[in-house]
Amino acid sequence: MKLRGTMKVNLAGHLEIGGYDAVQLARDFGTPLYVMDEAMIREICGQYRASFIMKHHAEVFYASKAFLTMAMCRIIEQEGLGLDVVSGGELYTAIKAKFPPGRICFHGNNKQLDELRLALEYGVGRIVVDNYREIEMLGSLAEQMGRTAEVLLRVSPGVEAHTHEYIKTGQIDSKFGFTVPNGQALDAVKRCLAVKSLELRGIHCHIGSQVFEMESFGYTAGIMMELARDIYRETGLEIKELNLGGGFGIYYAEGDEPSRIEKYAEAVTDAIARKAGEYGLKPPRLMIEPGRSIVGEAGTTLYTVGSTKEIPGVRKYVAVDGGMSDNPRHALYQARYEACLANRMNSPAEEKVAITGKCCESGDMLIWDLPLPKVEAGDILAVACTGAYNYSMSMNYNRLCRPAVVLVQDGAAEVIVERENYEDLLRNDRIPKRLRQAKPVRLASRR
Ligand SMILES: *Cc1c(COP(=O)(O)O)cnc(C)c1O
Repeated sequence: MKLRGTMKVNLAGHLEIGGYDAVQLARDFGTPLYVMDEAMIREICGQYRASFIMKHHAEVFYASKAFLTMAMCRIIEQEGLGLDVVSGGELYTAIKAKFPPGRICFHGNNKQLDELRLALEYGVGRIVVDNYREIEMLGSLAEQMGRTAEVLLRVSPGVEAHTHEYIKTGQIDSKFGFTVPNGQALDAVKRCLAVKSLELRGIHCHIGSQVFEMESFGYTAGIMMELARDIYRETGLEIKELNLGGGFGIYYAEGDEPSRIEKYAEAVTDAIARKAGEYGLKPPRLMIEPGRSIVGEAGTTLYTVGSTKEIPGVRKYVAVDGGMSDNPRHALYQARYEACLANRMNSPAEEKVAITGKCCESGDMLIWDLPLPKVEAGDILAVACTGAYNYSMSMNYNRLCRPAVVLVQDGAAEVIVERENYEDLLRNDRIPKRLRQAKPVRLASRR
């Protein structure tokens, strides 16, 4: 397993994260446990700040869906980034953590009226309008509330990014935003301009996730500038803000070759400057929304090894005390991970095993072929790069309790999300009165 962030192997031969022995973390806080490396999160925020904010006066919004807790909001606030939310729940978390509402950007393809009302009441900085219904809804709501909503228009530019390539599609098949190639985006701009309570600041797109080729972002920036030109020609409106979404790829396992954040910044700012020059437009203010790349590599999940099952000539299954309930990414999209035994970092690999969870699903796998020293019950397995889309996608399938999240830094560890307990699982359960009495069913044929 590739060590990252503040990870080290200490004198005891144990994995250490943020100066804290991972085996001790497992003892002190139990397993499964999400461990977040604060120094690494801050280091990456710093890279975004240097490459985008300082160098290009861009704005960087952390896409909170990757990992959101109130403590995370505080870190993002201190690091000078904005925050991207996609639901009333995410928005509420940010507000309760005292995140400045002006630095929040609100997304979503089916925002509810009460969510929009909450956004306007709190005074969120930008609302990214996704569809015609929302133009109408937000327009009349803002008018009733005597507000002007500053909005960006979500568009689907006809570019679909994958890890190592992008695909130009004339008519992208996406549930998000207004389609550019068929003229819908331009039409939506005109609709927005006709609504007095909406101030259209710019356009927004997000072409995909786990993108390694910076050319994909540059190309997309160019397409968006073409739209800016068409908008200017057709309506006279100058686009002031261009939001290119997130998607910067990270390392999960061998074969992943992430680019550098600096190169990301160059690719998009060069493309914007070039097109702006070509079209005689003033370059709009750039905005981006990284999620995965800010937290992904900073997270590690610790598990305790339990039962194993060896099928001679087939494989050896090693079961841990969590699984798809705390990390559904393999089950959802065959995501790959690396892992190690945190209590035996210096032991050489002796066998290849399959790491499975404790859920009642054959698809409850974390890693198929993992080289490890001879595994025994009680070993602490550390799965790396679980900071993004793990805690935020965790669930209570099989009524498993969600793990705690600890933040480690300089040898200290603090709980930022408590481990769930059985009472938490029952908190919203209700038994209707008529079901409270025992009422045995009579089985007529029983002798
Ligand atoms: C998911 C998403 C992001 C973040 O994507 P990452 O791949 O995590 O960087 C940013 N913007 C929008 C609109 C998204 O849907």
